Amino acid sequence: MNSILQNDLNDLENILEKTKQYGIAFLDNLENISTSSKKTIDPTRKLNETGLGSLAALEEFNQRLAPLMVASPGPRYLGFVTGGSTPAAIVGDWLSTVYDQNTQAVKGQGGTSALIEFETIHLLRQLLELPESFLGGFVTGATMSNFTCLGVARQWLGAQLGKDFAKNGISEPINILTATPHSSSIKTLSMLGIGSNNYTVLKTAEGNREAIDIDDLQKNIESLNGEPFILISSAGTVNTADFDDFVAIAKLREKYNFWWHIDAAFGGFAAVSEKFRHLVEGWDGADSITIDCHKWLNVPYESAFYLIKKEHIGLQIETFQNSNAPYLGNPLENFNYLNVLPENSRRLRALPVWFSLLAYGKEGFKDIIEKSTALALHFANALIEDENFELLAPIRLNNVCFTLRGEDNREHVSKFLTHLNDTGKVFMTPTVYQNRKGIRASFVNWRTTENDIRIIMEEIKNTISELDI
Ligand SMILES: *Cc1c(COP(=O)(O)O)cnc(C)c1O
Repeated sequence: MNSILQNDLNDLENILEKTKQYGIAFLDNLENISTSSKKTIDPTRKLNETGLGSLAALEEFNQRLAPLMVASPGPRYLGFVTGGSTPAAIVGDWLSTVYDQNTQAVKGQGGTSALIEFETIHLLRQLLELPESFLGGFVTGATMSNFTCLGVARQWLGAQLGKDFAKNGISEPINILTATPHSSSIKTLSMLGIGSNNYTVLKTAEGNREAIDIDDLQKNIESLNGEPFILISSAGTVNTADFDDFVAIAKLREKYNFWWHIDAAFGGFAAVSEKFRHLVEGWDGADSITIDCHKWLNVPYESAFYLIKKEHIGLQIETFQNSNAPYLGNPLENFNYLNVLPENSRRLRALPVWFSLLAYGKEGFKDIIEKSTALALHFANALIEDENFELLAPIRLNNVCFTLRGEDNREHVSKFLTHLNDTGKVFMTPTVYQNRKGIRASFVNWRTTENDIRIIMEEIKNTISELDI
């Protein structure tokens, strides 16, 4: 063994202790760390001939690289839909690295850590009150979950036409219907060879909605004359957290032949609170569901899972099996994750979620969901009270989509947002909603409090007066 590596091994406890201290220093100071960074490095560092050892690398990291980090796990980072990391989630994530399992099989030689993933999916089904008819697994994010689910949907559609698309390629057009898909679903259509242009946009429901207009859906279905199709529906659109009417879709599914996918990346967690559970009523009828854990479950990146109905396991294996050889035996008995999703080698991604669910239980997450939604309302009210702003959509859950009052204010909105984000006290992302330039604040972080809203409003008012708009 190389002597530097040997020294590191001998000094492991000290190295990890120092790492922990740096970690704690960051987390304890999150409130004061900027939510934006303009710091830069010259990323052309020369590789040393002789290594530095971990402690010296840690010093260099701390000096040169740590300043590039922003307070994205902190309470006022409201851009995109960015969750933080709870203590239990960090514990699980650290241990995933320490144990470094290649999580694939549930029995046989070479490890059975996939049983931990099974158990975690079982805990998640209970949290979300979803039936055991869904099987699930972990992937890096909702994008890959959408890819996994829609990959199986593509295979299902082929099977309806007597084709095996996974083996022979796509030989027929694939009908996709959707109203307000997340950009990652469109990217998925491109990755799956379906084509990012090849989908039909449904009308949205009346009254400032992003949800599917059910009559328009039915009309489009009728015009397909019985051809199979894939429906991509939403549980929580990113701009306005709107939900499709799953009860109505479930009813249509009794009559028509389609694969029903729900992108519930963050909105799925509405199921955890009685206050919002009605938003997902009927979602258990779907064929597949996408849910992110690195958003509202507050575990570190990269963590999401798919849920696909058990009855489709054959199609799922046809799509993702790791050899062209026929799959032998009962797929559930000889279960191996590498045959049902994109990755072969994979870390024990379930562990941070397992720790979170055991540590905080259903109540803990219900509390996070209800606090986030209350804070979204609180922030929206503060905005309305200020004559400079208007909401672009009602607050349905945890996202606030707003803009500066008045027409033709695109430039002002950009200028305002840039200036506000530059304060480093808060971070929000720009959006366009119904052809109007807007700003989106998404509340999912467990650390956010009313005091943060107070700080944010102060910065907003300062920005307005400094810019004189
Ligand atoms: C965030 C999000 C995605 C993409 O998720 P990643 O985790 O970034 O891959 C997909 N759909 C919705 C509705 C989202 O909010």
